[in-house]
Amino acid sequence: MTAAPRTDGTEVELPVTAEEIGLFGTGAAAPLDAADVDIPVDTRGLTPDDLVRARVITSAIRQRSQELRREHPVLRHQDALGLVAFAVAVLGFTGSGALYLTGVLPWYGTLLLSAAFAAVGHEVEHDLIHALYFRRRRAVRYALLFGVWAIRPYTINPVYRIRLHLRHHAYSGLPDDIEEVSITNGKPWGAVRLYSLLDPYVPALVRILTTRPKDAEDALWRRTILKASLGLTPVAITIWYAFLGLHVAGRLGASVPPGLLHALTVLTVVWVGPNVWRGFCLHFISSNMHYQGDVEQGNVLQQTQVFNRWYLVPFQVFCLNFGSTHPIHHFYVADPFYVRQLMERDIHPVLAANGVRFNDMGTFARANRYHAD
Ligand SMILES: [Zn+2]
Ligand SMILES: [Zn+2]
Repeated sequence: MTAAPRTDGTEVELPVTAEEIGLFGTGAAAPLDAADVDIPVDTRGLTPDDLVRARVITSAIRQRSQELRREHPVLRHQDALGLVAFAVAVLGFTGSGALYLTGVLPWYGTLLLSAAFAAVGHEVEHDLIHALYFRRRRAVRYALLFGVWAIRPYTINPVYRIRLHLRHHAYSGLPDDIEEVSITNGKPWGAVRLYSLLDPYVPALVRILTTRPKDAEDALWRRTILKASLGLTPVAITIWYAFLGLHVAGRLGASVPPGLLHALTVLTVVWVGPNVWRGFCLHFISSNMHYQGDVEQGNVLQQTQVFNRWYLVPFQVFCLNFGSTHPIHHFYVADPFYVRQLMERDIHPVLAANGVRFNDMGTFARANRYHAD
């Protein structure tokens, strides 16, 4: 008899179907009715035991989610809270830049502060991708998506990311998970992986331009990267590398137009630079807390680990505790980022009791494989 432990000592019995699990349902409070955010997931290959464990975790999260809304009625105003988070991200980011321009903050103060506000923008984007704000008003969602892209230019087109991210949920941990593969997940460690955490785009573009596709999957990856980069991404890349190049040239004694250097420095400090650092932190945490390469199709228990050792805090600050709360999201996508944060302490024991790994640092040596062999 297969049974999955709950933290209260009781067990859940079989049988269970994939539909019952509701892996990617959005809970009773907010039925998913928008086809563009639906996530079909094939869970047919999973063992009954794993299916039950996943159901226990998902129902514990759903229950806590409902309790939190009863305890804090303000959480029911999800659209308004989404707008508040959007405003915090945009006003914080631009305000921090303004403090640099007026001489109040040094460049590194603005860089770090703006990176933290841009991280809020990243979470808002992710919530919008799952239609957690303005579910029935797509025009508003898209306007907000472009708003958070404006403060995070060193990222791909957010509208294109919708498909890429839903694919991440459907094929998490498989080679088809283009979103994770693109930020180095599953690659062997070395100079290329390290540099690609800082800038996933230029190494990808170099590879696309200098090599031929290995197979159909690789060809799809190439097309996806090229299409998803249209927009602000090349602008940010140009500013970043021109800034680096002109500074190096100036140090080497070349004559560099001071006006151009000043303009590039300002754009880097207030716009692009914070996102280079924020991106590094997010890519480092995300590409090591997701497993890659040998995860069973649809097995949420194997897709992520809780990655929250104390020494990861300097990175977690700039991705809003992603390593600790993102596993909760894989089981239940219906909650915005701040609700996941509120339930973290209650849900971690349920994850642990049902086999989700915690701080599996061996992932570095295994190039993010779930299994040791
Ligand atoms: Zn997601
Ligand atoms: Zn994920």
